[in-house]
Amino acid sequence: MSGARHIAFEERSKGTIEVEVDYVVVGSGAGGAAAAVTLARGGAEVAIVEAGAWRDGEHYPYSAYGSMRDLMDDWGSTVAVGRAFWPVVQARTMGGTTVINSAICVRTPDDIFAQWEKERGIGGLRDRVLAHQERIERELSVEEVPPAARGRSNLLAMKGAEGLGWDSHYMRRYVKGCEGTGQCLQGCRKLRKQSTNLNYVPETIARGGTVLSCAPVSRVVLEGTRAIGVRGHFVHPQTRAKGAVFFVRARKGVFVAASVTHTPVLLARSGVKSKMIGEQFRAHPGTGVFGCYDEPVDMNVGATQGWASTQFRKEPGLKLETLAIPPELVASRLTGAGVELMKRLAEYRHIAMWCHAVRAESVGTVRPAPFSDKPMVKYGLDRADMERFRQGMILLAKQHFAAGAKAIIPGIQGMPYKLTADQVGLLDDAPLDPKKYIAILSHLFGGAIMGRDPASAVVDGSGRVHGYQGLMVADASVIPSNLGVNPQHTIMGLASVFAEDALAA
Ligand SMILES: Cc1cc2nc3c(=O)[nH]c(=O)nc-3n(C[C@H](O)[C@H](O)[C@H](O)COP(=O)(O)OP(=O)(O)OC[C@H]3O[C@@H](n4cnc5c(N)ncnc54)[C@H](O)[C@@H]3O)c2cc1C
Ligand code: SF4
Repeated sequence: MSGARHIAFEERSKGTIEVEVDYVVVGSGAGGAAAAVTLARGGAEVAIVEAGAWRDGEHYPYSAYGSMRDLMDDWGSTVAVGRAFWPVVQARTMGGTTVINSAICVRTPDDIFAQWEKERGIGGLRDRVLAHQERIERELSVEEVPPAARGRSNLLAMKGAEGLGWDSHYMRRYVKGCEGTGQCLQGCRKLRKQSTNLNYVPETIARGGTVLSCAPVSRVVLEGTRAIGVRGHFVHPQTRAKGAVFFVRARKGVFVAASVTHTPVLLARSGVKSKMIGEQFRAHPGTGVFGCYDEPVDMNVGATQGWASTQFRKEPGLKLETLAIPPELVASRLTGAGVELMKRLAEYRHIAMWCHAVRAESVGTVRPAPFSDKPMVKYGLDRADMERFRQGMILLAKQHFAAGAKAIIPGIQGMPYKLTADQVGLLDDAPLDPKKYIAILSHLFGGAIMGRDPASAVVDGSGRVHGYQGLMVADASVIPSNLGVNPQHTIMGLASVFAEDALAA
């Protein structure tokens, strides 16, 4: 069968659903959608196969709980196993993590291309990636957070940064006319955020492509060392019941873009041989510091994230940002119970949350979990990274006080619940034990890294899996280093280059 369409869950009684195309792309997030639309624009017949369901704006949830249930991978329950168990947050829905992210758009820094050339033997990417990033910025309406959507938390962050003489800015995001509802984590019901389910996925269909949703791929089908398609069975989005089997045959190639945690597992499960599969997992671990202000801040009024500073990207190695999280998540960060928690919550309107993303050097692994098809991430921060982590919290604390906060809530186990400006020095001796902190990993890298040498890389500089034909990877798992900036733009730029190379082959 072929022809433009969307195939959602199919009952088991349907037997096997077969589709044949030029290229099949596994995953519809930042990498998958960018690769698919490039292939489709190049005249190829493309199928996107996505594990999650297709949800339109009116079906996005309002709460963090709803987001975990409907939009996140495995209810957001994946954790990095190390000394601490920090959540690894990713989406499982049409559009991938672009549906639940904050749409912050940052071009790949020049030093990253130089590093890839020097350490991985991959040159010639800079101009091509940047050209694609320029195009994507036009197509996805990248704009600075408009003044009306800045909200008080972002304005205060700018005030604090200016007071300290830091270089900082209001963010540029893939958003057309942000209304400042602070709901990015639950999906943008106003359809202002340009997640890939709104643009590149529908365009792929409009260009004659096919999209399968609720369709987790269980393996890439190989004939010898050539990838000829993908196979799996539909899974009902609510009951999780197994549906029909699907087989998508690819005449020209298979692109795997199932994310840093799922791509390595899928390659391993499919029998792809490389000792580098699942190696070199990296992340930007991050946490927030709350500032308490006399006047209401109402952090959920305004863009979810609107202000950032990259001044500390190289030294000590981190990025600072504002972040508004839903009230129920704030409650979990305020700690305590009963009357004490209610008193703390009463302050909610007066709290601003700012966070860091640490450019950690530590590496981990992604492997199939025993007796399941889920990924297992092993990862922990070494002492140098924990020092960066602590340093970032100190910077955020100082920024809050420079913006006029009367106290901060550091959220560090064993330290006072609140610190005033004269106590900020206590943070210099804050523990370096990850268990004492609540952090998440939202920017992930590696697991199928690129490099010229097959002994130290899974894919080459065109995303082609070393030693295989017609098998490409086009997501964050190819990224061999920690960027120190938000990764979506780099992922999209690389995926576009890889798709272009496949068309030219
Ligand atoms: C809360 C949050 C906020 C973020 N904010 C930003 C931001 O503002 N700016 C930024 O640059 N980055 C941000 N990021 C990171 C960014 O969203 C990700 O780095 C990026 O989306 C990763 O792209 P990807 O293509 O590798 O994977 P994803 O976008 O996660 O897409 C992978 C897709 O593959 C699907 N899939 C998985 N397994 C299978 C399978 N077996 N079969 C079929 N499909 C499968 C998944 O369901 C998913 O849809 C954020 C991340 C989070 C969690
Ligand atoms: S802040 Fe609200 S309107 Fe703006 S992009 Fe996020 S969800 Fe959409």
